[in-house]
Amino acid sequence: MAANPAFVIVGAGLAGAKAAQTLREEAFDGPIVLLGAEQERPYERPPLSKGYLLGRDERDSVYVHPPGWYAEHDVDLRLGVTATAVDPAGHEVTLADGSRIGYTKLLLTTGSTPRRLTVPGGDLVGVHYLRRLADSDRIKEAFGSASRVVVIGAGWIGLETAAAARAAGVEVTLLEVAELPLLRVLGREVARTFADLHAEHGVDLRFGVQVAEITGTGGRVNGVLTTDGSRIDADAVIVGVGITPDTRLAEAAGLEVDNGIRVDAHLRTSHPDVHAAGDVANAFHPLLGKHIRVEHWANAVNQPQIAAKAMLGRDVTYDRVPYFFTDQYDLGMEYTGHVEPGGYDRVVFRGRRDTREFIAFWLAEGRVLAGMNVNVWDVTDPIRALVTSGRAVDAGELADVDVPLADLSGRSDATG
Ligand SMILES: Cc1cc2nc3c(=O)[nH]c(=O)nc-3n(C[C@H](O)[C@H](O)[C@H](O)COP(=O)(O)OP(=O)(O)OC[C@H]3O[C@@H](n4cnc5c(N)ncnc54)[C@H](O)[C@@H]3O)c2cc1C
Repeated sequence: MAANPAFVIVGAGLAGAKAAQTLREEAFDGPIVLLGAEQERPYERPPLSKGYLLGRDERDSVYVHPPGWYAEHDVDLRLGVTATAVDPAGHEVTLADGSRIGYTKLLLTTGSTPRRLTVPGGDLVGVHYLRRLADSDRIKEAFGSASRVVVIGAGWIGLETAAAARAAGVEVTLLEVAELPLLRVLGREVARTFADLHAEHGVDLRFGVQVAEITGTGGRVNGVLTTDGSRIDADAVIVGVGITPDTRLAEAAGLEVDNGIRVDAHLRTSHPDVHAAGDVANAFHPLLGKHIRVEHWANAVNQPQIAAKAMLGRDVTYDRVPYFFTDQYDLGMEYTGHVEPGGYDRVVFRGRRDTREFIAFWLAEGRVLAGMNVNVWDVTDPIRALVTSGRAVDAGELADVDVPLADLSGRSDATG
C-alpha cells in the first residue's frame, strides 16, 4: 500500500456507509471519500416499504448515521455527486463535473435500481417505483388520496407495499405473472402462505396475469389493461418487478461483470485494488462453493465490513449465510440460508401453519439448505448452525417442536 493511502467508496448507501465506518473502526487514518449520487446521506431502505411508508417510523430513524457522524470521523461524504468513470490502472475515479479523484483502494457499492416496466403508459403520472426515500414519500402521499391501487409484481416490494396500502384503507389489486407470489424464492409449498395472507387482508390477487398497458387521462394513470383483456381501475400503480445491479461503472472500467460485479471471497474484483460489496456484488461464497449475489439488508451491512478489512490487507473472507426478513400485516419472518429456484427436494414444517407460527426448512438429500421462521423468534442462530453444519437431519425430528433445533445441528453454541 502507498505511504499515504486514500480510499474512495462509490455509492453512499448502506454498504458504502458501513465500509467507511469499518475503515475508521479498524484505525485507518487516511482520507476516505464517500461518493453518493443521491442528495440524502446514507439510509436504510427496508423501512421505505414498511414502518416509514406506514407512517410509524420517523424520517430521522432511517439514516445509517447521525448527520454529524461523517465530519466527526473525517469521512468526506459528497452527496449529489455521481462517479462517471473508473480507471483501475491509473487508480482514478472521474466525477460528473469532469474532476478526478485518485485512490489507493476503491470500493464499489453502487447497489441496484428497479427494473422498469416497458409497456405503453409506463411513464404516466401516478406510476411509482420504490427504491429511494422520495419514492416512499410519493407513494405515502398517493395512499392518502387514492381509493384504488394496482400493484404489479408479487415480490417482496410488491407484497409489502400492498400491505401498507391496505393499512391505509386503499383497495388493492395485485398482479403477478407467476402462479403464486415469491414462487421462485420460496417454492410452491411456502409461497401459498403469502397468497393466503394477502387474500385474508382483502387484496384482490390475480396470478398468471401480464400487463399489456397502463392507461390514463390527461397524463395521469387511471387503470391497467392486462393481456387477457381485463381492465382494472386505479388511481395509482406501484411497480415492483425486480432490480438490476448497477454495474455500469465496473463494466466500462473493464472489470469482470456477470450478474453483478464478480468478486472473490475477499470481495476483490478482477482488479486487486478494486473491491465491491452489497447488492452489486456477485461474490464467491466458500460454503456454497459458487458465486451468489444477495439483494438484502444484512448482506449490505456485513459484506462491506469484510471488504473494508480486505482493503486494509487483512486476510478475511466473506462466508456468512444469507439472511433476510420481511414484515407484512401481522406476519414477521426471517429467512436464513440459500436455495436456488427448484434446488431442494423436500420442505419440512415445524409448528403451526394454520396460525402462521412455524419454521419451514428446505432440504436437499436430507441436509437443511435454508430455514424460514414465521412469527417464531430467536431461532436464527440454530437455523444458521443447521445450514452450515451440512449434516443430514431426521425430518421427523426437524418437524418435532419438542426436539431442540440446536441438538440437530450438533452445535452446542447454537441456542433455540
Ligand atoms: C423498499 C425496500 C425495502 C427493502 N426491504 C428489505 C427487507 O425487508 N429485508 C431485507 O433484507 N432487505 C430489504 N431491502 C433490500 C436492502 O435495502 C438492500 O439490499 C440494500 O439497500 C442494499 O444496499 P447497497 O448499499 O448495496 O445498495 P443501495 O442501497 O442501492 O445503495 C447504493 C447507492 O449508490 C449510489 N450510486 C450508484 N451509482 C453511483 C455512482 N456512479 N456514483 C455515486 N453514487 C452512486 C446510489 O444512488 C445509491 O444511493 C429493501 C429494499 C428496498 C428498496
